Amino acid sequence: MKIRAQIGKVLNLDKCIGCHTCSVTCKNVWTSREGMEYAWFNNVETKPGIGYPKDWENQKRWNGGWERAPGGSIRPKMGGKWRLLAKIFANPDLPEIDDYYEPFTFDYDHLQKAGESKAFPTARARSLISGKRMEKIEWGPNWEEILGGEFSKRSEDYNFEGVQKEIYGQFENTFMMYLPRLCEHCLNPTCVAACPSGAIYKREEDGIVLIDQEACRGWRMCVSGCPYKKIYYNWKTGKSEKCIFCYPRIEAGQPTVCSETCVGRIRYLGVMLYDADRIEEAASAENVEDLYQAQLDIFLDPNDPEVIEQARKDGVPENWLEAARHSPVWKMAMEWKVAFPLHPEYRTLPMVWYVPPLSPISAAANAGQISVNNNMPDIRSLRIPLKYLANLLTAGDEEPIAVCLERMLAMRGYMRSKSIDGVQNEAIATDVGLTG
Ligand code: SF4
Ligand code: SF4
Repeated sequence: MKIRAQIGKVLNLDKCIGCHTCSVTCKNVWTSREGMEYAWFNNVETKPGIGYPKDWENQKRWNGGWERAPGGSIRPKMGGKWRLLAKIFANPDLPEIDDYYEPFTFDYDHLQKAGESKAFPTARARSLISGKRMEKIEWGPNWEEILGGEFSKRSEDYNFEGVQKEIYGQFENTFMMYLPRLCEHCLNPTCVAACPSGAIYKREEDGIVLIDQEACRGWRMCVSGCPYKKIYYNWKTGKSEKCIFCYPRIEAGQPTVCSETCVGRIRYLGVMLYDADRIEEAASAENVEDLYQAQLDIFLDPNDPEVIEQARKDGVPENWLEAARHSPVWKMAMEWKVAFPLHPEYRTLPMVWYVPPLSPISAAANAGQISVNNNMPDIRSLRIPLKYLANLLTAGDEEPIAVCLERMLAMRGYMRSKSIDGVQNEAIATDVGLTG
């Protein structure tokens, strides 16, 4: 056993309001410069939707389908032979600018300087790359949110794993949720394995994945290799860039910019201890359905004296052990089982986990239609289909998601039944199914 510490995050989707503050503050700090106009280290997707870049979850499109090793497991790593081939051949699986969107600004100047005319001057869109006025904007992140009807007509074009296709176009069954996304700082990062220059590395002390800008040669194998499409090519410098988990702030004991500025307070930072010797085993679990559990199995209890002892021997510093003991990521992922990895079937062992949303249930809950009481309709009647959440977070296993949502409903009911000074209101408690 070799114990390492890894910084990770849990994002509570039940609290995300889709305000994009996280994306904007991240952009202002890290990517507000030439060459990176289109890049969002953090973006917030409207789901169900094809995301940013377009269709990023369709692994067949970007990676020509995962290469399957004998026995059905998937090899996310790129070994010596593949590295050599990557050097020789051009990379065919790169997203193009239209898959992200053509970045634009508005012609605000025009508002103030336009000459007198019958019509009120408008601020037209102008391309940030060519500088030209844009006649029509045809795509952008969160496009589905704006053009839901239009999108539903086109949904046939995209791979939505069944459930979304069925409900698209039926207004009464539509649902929407937000999915903030950033680099997962994976325990088994394909970007590191795919880089022919060896420029990407995972820091031993905290697991943050970084690109050495001096060593990057712009092969962009990392862009196609990352299943989450979270590496961006800077056309100005000719190098690849990615989320750096705000490491200068982490080193100074501060939270990441997105966590600090999150309006919904949905982002929890924490340290996890894991057994580095079990990474390969966890990433190559035979059955896709076992991958969520396989990842859980490599995390180690930070309150176990034997684990602490071994971690000290393996060089994990005292302050990180202390942080692991108080980690909200550990609590939510391991103790309460309310947080899950995004697409564990990609086998990179991602470290940004998500609490699934409870659906827009307030009205139904207030009308007494939903509760934790066994006599009430079960969790499967929530508006966001369980299968959809399971496809996102547990490689399709609905059971852990159902258990989690029941816990969240119970907690919501409990909190609502208490007054501001903590006294429980029996009538409300009964109403939400906590008593009686
Ligand atoms: Fe690398 Fe992509 Fe994982 Fe980030 S999410 S560590 S870029 S493989
Ligand atoms: Fe969601 Fe927080 Fe980002 Fe707003 S700032 S979109 S609440 S994650």
